[in-house]
Amino acid sequence: MQVPLLDLKAQYAPLKEETMKAVSEVFDSQYFIMGPKVREFEEAMEAYTGAKHALGVSSGTDALLLALMALGIGEGDEVITTPYTFFATAGSIARTGATPVFVDIDPITFNINANQIEAKVTEKTKAILPVHLYGQCADMDKINEIAKKHGLFVIEDGAQAIGAKYKGKDAGTLGTVGCFSFFPSKNLGGAGDGGLVTTDDDELFAKLEKMRVHGMHPKYYHQYIGGNFRLDALQAVVLSVKLPHLNDWHEGRRRNAAFYTKAFEKCEKIITPREMNGNYMIFNQYIVRVPRRDEVIAGLKAAGIGCDIYYPVSLHMQECFKYLGYKQGAFPEAEKAASETLALPIYAELTTEQKQYVADTLISLVESK
Ligand SMILES: *Cc1c(COP(=O)(O)O)cnc(C)c1O
Repeated sequence: MQVPLLDLKAQYAPLKEETMKAVSEVFDSQYFIMGPKVREFEEAMEAYTGAKHALGVSSGTDALLLALMALGIGEGDEVITTPYTFFATAGSIARTGATPVFVDIDPITFNINANQIEAKVTEKTKAILPVHLYGQCADMDKINEIAKKHGLFVIEDGAQAIGAKYKGKDAGTLGTVGCFSFFPSKNLGGAGDGGLVTTDDDELFAKLEKMRVHGMHPKYYHQYIGGNFRLDALQAVVLSVKLPHLNDWHEGRRRNAAFYTKAFEKCEKIITPREMNGNYMIFNQYIVRVPRRDEVIAGLKAAGIGCDIYYPVSLHMQECFKYLGYKQGAFPEAEKAASETLALPIYAELTTEQKQYVADTLISLVESK
């Protein structure tokens, strides 16, 4: 049996007609940059997340970069974040000229260990940038408490967490500003690159909006140095077609996660994900820890099961961040996660047979010597 890590064709099939109609309307209008379709989508995202403002942007990476720029973060500043995330999180901080300051992760959630943040706060610290990894929100109460005490911004990297909830509130409404990605493999994926920035702050929103178009307002008058961070109308309409189904897809992923977790109860060598109290996790990934991880991956692939490692190298060990001066062993939990974890297929359209096959195969690979 073949079980890909992600099968977007299964999700697309029932939406094909509606998507093509929406795309065709954009072509007929020849209105490709911003315009009413982008605004409509932003309004739908405001309603979905509960954020006062939502701004469509060119990618999740650009959402982070724009948020950092609009908050005035740059050279000489420090931003505290996790080393166990997709590169863009720390890459965006570094691109502003600021210094990413890493804090190890919590071994259960894989999110930044909020108890270790305060020790890293200096007079240069401007913001905390937690990532809601795999679709579960970070320990936001603790993070916001530290931010408030030291006068720091909180930038949420919610790229993997659109629709995730923390104590009843949505990701993207828990800090100063929220950043999302519509890369096709995220729970809400476009037909290419796209992203979103959310905030409740009117003044910050006005700045974000201008900086999305080169800090321009009115036309050809530039108050700030921004960039081209615009979302395409084509992406906006594709995403608008998908948005009404997003919660069903989250629920499908959660059901699949529950299926796996139950199946793995009989094999204590497989450590399954845990949803923390007060969280609604959207399982952008279902991550397990297993012994002999690389052998197990080879076995899964040989059995036709897609799997991957998110992420094989903690960011403090990346070549481009050598200048930060971190050594191996600096963040033991992040390094351990990088060597022990793997992601299983979790997308909503998996059949029971596929799930059973994945579970049985993983258990037999882990149990075999
Ligand atoms: C995907 C992702 C990003 C970047 O999003 P793009 O749309 O690919 O630029 C940033 N942070 C995290 C945690 C991600 O998973």
